[in-house]
Amino acid sequence: MRLLVVEDDDRIAIPLTDGLRREGYEIERVVTAGDALAAAPADLVLLDLGLPDRDGQELFRDLRVASTVPIIVITARGSERDRVTGLNLGADDYVVKPFGFQELVARIKAVLRRSGPRPHDAASVLRIRVLEIDRRTRLVRSHGAALALTPKEYAILDYLARDPGAVVTRQELLEKVWGPHWYGTTKMIDVHVASLRKKVGDPELIETVRGIGFRLVAGE
Ligand code: CA
Repeated sequence: MRLLVVEDDDRIAIPLTDGLRREGYEIERVVTAGDALAAAPADLVLLDLGLPDRDGQELFRDLRVASTVPIIVITARGSERDRVTGLNLGADDYVVKPFGFQELVARIKAVLRRSGPRPHDAASVLRIRVLEIDRRTRLVRSHGAALALTPKEYAILDYLARDPGAVVTRQELLEKVWGPHWYGTTKMIDVHVASLRKKVGDPELIETVRGIGFRLVAGE
């Protein structure tokens, strides 16, 4: 597993990268946003939002456009507002400095587990309305055009698509997509669903069931 560590502060980056190498990860560490975008593809990115050359949120968006690599955001700012902003960005997880090394390793493992390949289904390509969901390659097409979904958006869509028509509660989505040990509110689910809706280009596909959750509307 190859991790890209984007962190300008040596006091954090050096013990972090040493520790992660001891855990068996291959590490590339970069200091600037420019080097982060130029780095070779990684399995996961640890991204410090406070970088010297560029706004971290902008860099996040550029990384997201470039690939669907899972991203764990690291920031010194820990207020509830910033936490929500990190999640609104579409981060797969969010760690506030100072964080415990073991906690971070556990989060890295959880994110990699959730974003990793699933066993090959017999029916790996699912067709629902305008969408084609390829579970083996995790590629989603709408009207034949590939969509740039974040890992969270993909996971939400994939989960709803397991049983089109069935109502899925926000709590269930939180557990299945964010994991059972997630402590955030269910509000961020709506943010990710709104972004997913925009990308799929079929406003009626994902229906909000008031006060409960969501369902995929399979019929025309
Ligand atoms: Ca920094």
